[in-house]
Amino acid sequence: MTATWDTATLMEQDIAHMLHPVTNLLRHRENGPLIIARGEGSTVWDTDNRAYIDGFAGLWNVNVGHGRAVLGEVASEQMTRLAFQPTFFGLATPPAINLATKLASLYPGAINHFQFTSGGAESNETAIKIARYYWAIGGQPNKVKIISRLMGYHGIALGALAATGIPAYWQDFGPLAPGFVHVSAPHVYRLGAGLTDEEFVAKLVAELEETIAREGAETIAAFLGEPVQGAGGVVPPPPGYWPAIKAVLERHDILFIADEVITGFGRTGTMFGVENYDVQPDIVSLAKGITSGYIPLGAVGISDAVDDRLATPDRMFMHGFTYSGHPVACAVALRNIAIIEEEGLPANAAARGTELLAGLHTLDNHPHVGNVRGKGLMAIVEVVADKEQKTAYAASAGIGGELQAATRRRGLIVRCNDTGIAVSPPLIITADEIARLVEGISASIREVLGR
Ligand code: PMP
Repeated sequence: MTATWDTATLMEQDIAHMLHPVTNLLRHRENGPLIIARGEGSTVWDTDNRAYIDGFAGLWNVNVGHGRAVLGEVASEQMTRLAFQPTFFGLATPPAINLATKLASLYPGAINHFQFTSGGAESNETAIKIARYYWAIGGQPNKVKIISRLMGYHGIALGALAATGIPAYWQDFGPLAPGFVHVSAPHVYRLGAGLTDEEFVAKLVAELEETIAREGAETIAAFLGEPVQGAGGVVPPPPGYWPAIKAVLERHDILFIADEVITGFGRTGTMFGVENYDVQPDIVSLAKGITSGYIPLGAVGISDAVDDRLATPDRMFMHGFTYSGHPVACAVALRNIAIIEEEGLPANAAARGTELLAGLHTLDNHPHVGNVRGKGLMAIVEVVADKEQKTAYAASAGIGGELQAATRRRGLIVRCNDTGIAVSPPLIITADEIARLVEGISASIREVLGR
């Protein structure tokens, strides 16, 4: 298994031929890539055999950890038996049916019907289109707008991009798709200062009510939100937020789409994110942890009520992708979910997440640590130039790059940018590895931002 790699040649070829997401392409020509060659558990090794704790679980998705040979075996068996059949035109395969059945039993409430995709953005495109279709065939074709939140991340396909509430992703890719409206994030540290949780929730509810009044409930199809915002900056909502928001949506006949692309499959300490917050969606988007990244797959679940309306006599459901229900991906997902259940990974995420947050909170008194927050195994250390004013570092300060270099020197892969360090390790991570992660992050922050 120990292959040797020619790192220098791979670096040159990467710089010559690869286009990297969310990377400064000019600086990348100088710095080149970090090339990861293998993984086992929560550890990955680069092509020079240096070990790193994969503190970001790939991209929030390698929930069962690296090196699960059984998932390769399942894929190989299915590929040999039947590599592909679509789910178009009423066709199906046993793995796709079995996975839809499993998800129906697993997801809370009346979410019992699933269409598959190849990832998170496709899931949100699908969820948004189903919401519009639901109203259109119900005789309310003007209910098309989607309300989402600033700091929300829903993917970068054109529909999902318009829902995404992070302006850096929009810049120079316009025009944005019309029909999308943003409201504030439930960001206690940034927006709720001086308010009790109840007061802050009331403020956010009032903003939502005003938005609905301004736009007209008769023009709004759905509210799209992550149970815990992830890529925008790990924002767990204050207690009471989701039930209060859901009550407003119900009063105005607006569907709730939960984007559980990160929070699904154990990351927040429960199998699904909504289970922490006493709220039930009408539609749910899934991806990432559904296969722990071993193969691309996403899914959209809809409630019995939504499904009943979609089953209409005079229409075909004109939405789906070639790879909706790919049998190899579905077979891998089934085995991956079995591992998550058998090994109790949501409970491990809760226990290790408590240790992670407690460890990171030892940074609270650092003069440039503004806020430490998280839920389960997703957490962030938000750094600030001025703690009193909560001012962010200017991009020109280059803090993100320095933090990245400092953490990598300490054998950690975490997500660093000018606002801080986000962590989201595999759900199998051990207490010892959490301690090393916390130690490396703390030392990196002290190195870059001062003791
Ligand atoms: N929704 C959420 C909440 C996500 O975190 C992401 C990816 N980080 C997406 C959607 C988009 O998923 P993908 O990159 O697979 O399209």
